[in-house]
Amino acid sequence: MIPPQIIDKIFDVAPIEEVVGEYVTLKRAGANYKGLCPFHDDKSPSMSVSPSKGIFKCFSCGEGGNIFHFIMQHEGLSYPLAIKFLAERYNIEIEEGQINVDELQEEARVKDGVFACLEFAKNHFYERLNSSQDGKIIFKPYLTERGIHQQTIDEFYIGLSGLKKDHLLHEGIKNGYSVQQLFDAGLVKKINENQGIIESNLRDTFLDRIVFPIFSISGKVLGFGGRIIKKDTKAPKYLNSPETIVYEKRKELYGLSHSKQAIRKNDTVYLVEGYMDVVSLYQSGVENVVAVSGTAFTEDQARLLKRFSQNVTLLFDGDVAGVNASLKHIQTILAADLNVQVVLFPADEDPDSFIQKRGISDFYAYVKEHSKNFVGLIQTVTLNDNPTDPIKKAEAARTIAENIAALPDPLKRAAFITETSNVLDIPERIIIEEVNKFRVSARNLKDREERRNQSNISSSSPDGPPPDFVYQPDYHSGERSKNEDAKNYQEEELLKTLILHADKEFEEGVSVAAFIFKEFEDEEIWPVSSEFSAIYREAYSHFKEYGTFGEYFNKNYETGKLAADANPDRHSLSKGWEKIYEKYVKTDNDNYKSQVIDNLNYLKLKHIDNLMRENQEKIKTAQSTEDIIILQQNHRTLQEIRKKITDQIGTVII
Ligand SMILES: [Zn+2]
Repeated sequence: MIPPQIIDKIFDVAPIEEVVGEYVTLKRAGANYKGLCPFHDDKSPSMSVSPSKGIFKCFSCGEGGNIFHFIMQHEGLSYPLAIKFLAERYNIEIEEGQINVDELQEEARVKDGVFACLEFAKNHFYERLNSSQDGKIIFKPYLTERGIHQQTIDEFYIGLSGLKKDHLLHEGIKNGYSVQQLFDAGLVKKINENQGIIESNLRDTFLDRIVFPIFSISGKVLGFGGRIIKKDTKAPKYLNSPETIVYEKRKELYGLSHSKQAIRKNDTVYLVEGYMDVVSLYQSGVENVVAVSGTAFTEDQARLLKRFSQNVTLLFDGDVAGVNASLKHIQTILAADLNVQVVLFPADEDPDSFIQKRGISDFYAYVKEHSKNFVGLIQTVTLNDNPTDPIKKAEAARTIAENIAALPDPLKRAAFITETSNVLDIPERIIIEEVNKFRVSARNLKDREERRNQSNISSSSPDGPPPDFVYQPDYHSGERSKNEDAKNYQEEELLKTLILHADKEFEEGVSVAAFIFKEFEDEEIWPVSSEFSAIYREAYSHFKEYGTFGEYFNKNYETGKLAADANPDRHSLSKGWEKIYEKYVKTDNDNYKSQVIDNLNYLKLKHIDNLMRENQEKIKTAQSTEDIIILQQNHRTLQEIRKKITDQIGTVII
């Protein structure tokens, strides 16, 4: 734990424009400064530095935060080391033991060892493919047959794993790496889980496979993806490195290290399913391409892409699996406020085979002709031969509504609702209702997850659950909760509102913060179990002591990044949306009071839903008729309160 007075001292003596100014030339622009962002290949100054708020924000790549976040990112340091770094630069004394540097250095040392190990493996695999007999006779010809050139093999460092189960293990040891390092790097795994990390209990992770190194954005090897080429084997066709201290699957995209420049230049990214698609498209000149490689597309990956472009085009197989995969990804992409188009390839083709056969100009022509937004995609796949079938139409409307509900931007929702109404010839009002239903239940995702675990509560309850709960989208259900990861939307949205507007007046003599905290008390809706609980708690004790927030949120480590993210500046809007905004909305500043009310209402709704679920549980296990009657009364009361809240949220687009 670093003493807060040290952090305060650093904030006092290290103005953000000076800290950033060490690395970036800043020019004054009104109350702020502007400069070229050091975190992406910036051509015109996209980074804004606010001395009054003490935060920086890049409107192109999204990087943002306070002085510590800047140093962490720029120097590649952990939070404590960034504090130490700035303390030293500004001659602020840190006493022995206040920051345990040894511990931190130990962590950095372990990571360095793992990176070195992975780099060694990359080179070794690459050599094997190019120089060993196996490589030359079997594996290289396979790649050649699939149209992969030597230059591409070199560029992506494609390699060949060992054919014996302890090949890399021995090579690694021979080259001075410890078994622990090889294990930490995910290159070897235990044979017997219950035994230790000793040589006799380890074997290679990758066996008999073509391996594709997975690089970080800055080009460090994080792990590998391996593809088997033998047909007569039970081993899975694709295999990825396990999660390690340097490799978090959900945060990486295959190919991004190579494609980031092209993505920025074209302002669009093609998202494909596999390594081969990336390599093949890249080789053919379509360089703005990345792969999700088998896993569900995550929020983290969407955020990562957003740093380079707002426009994502999915290129997937046109078979059932491909359609389902693309539908699965779309919601996550929409929820990240990215624009998404989908191109489905003919059923027997994938992007790789298509471009190999037909070449780049046919590829672009095909993409142009078959590109659809999600409304068009769902309409096509649901209504393919039967455009007037009312049941199919309802199904399509519902699926589209579920996707519209994922859009964070109310104006985009409005625009897509109109489009859907036109395309399907269904009144707008009905689509709005459907979208709202999904938005209300999405706010309760975490609850829904729990409900699924507790199973059949709803079917056994006497009164039946409230209508919003009964509806479970049968369409690719189950996938959704997994990749959305039970987020606490209510807490997060309200927190952003609090960060942005805490000290503004809500009612005469009552600040936004005072109002929110009073509601927490009165309605007993303190966030107690989310990742944001501690932030609220700390903010509240600050509020009790000082009454106002001032720079509190910008300086705080957890909220500093949120503060930069929540900044209502809309520079990142694409041209089309800018016009729509001009037409419809006032600035966020005018809307903050209704934001407060809305977000509080959603939080209340979540609490009511929790109470209702607990009550349902009790009904299930109640022993006496009397108990059941009381519990049923409770249920009805809760239902009434719930209705009042949802009425207040209204049937406007929420
Ligand atoms: Zn940037």
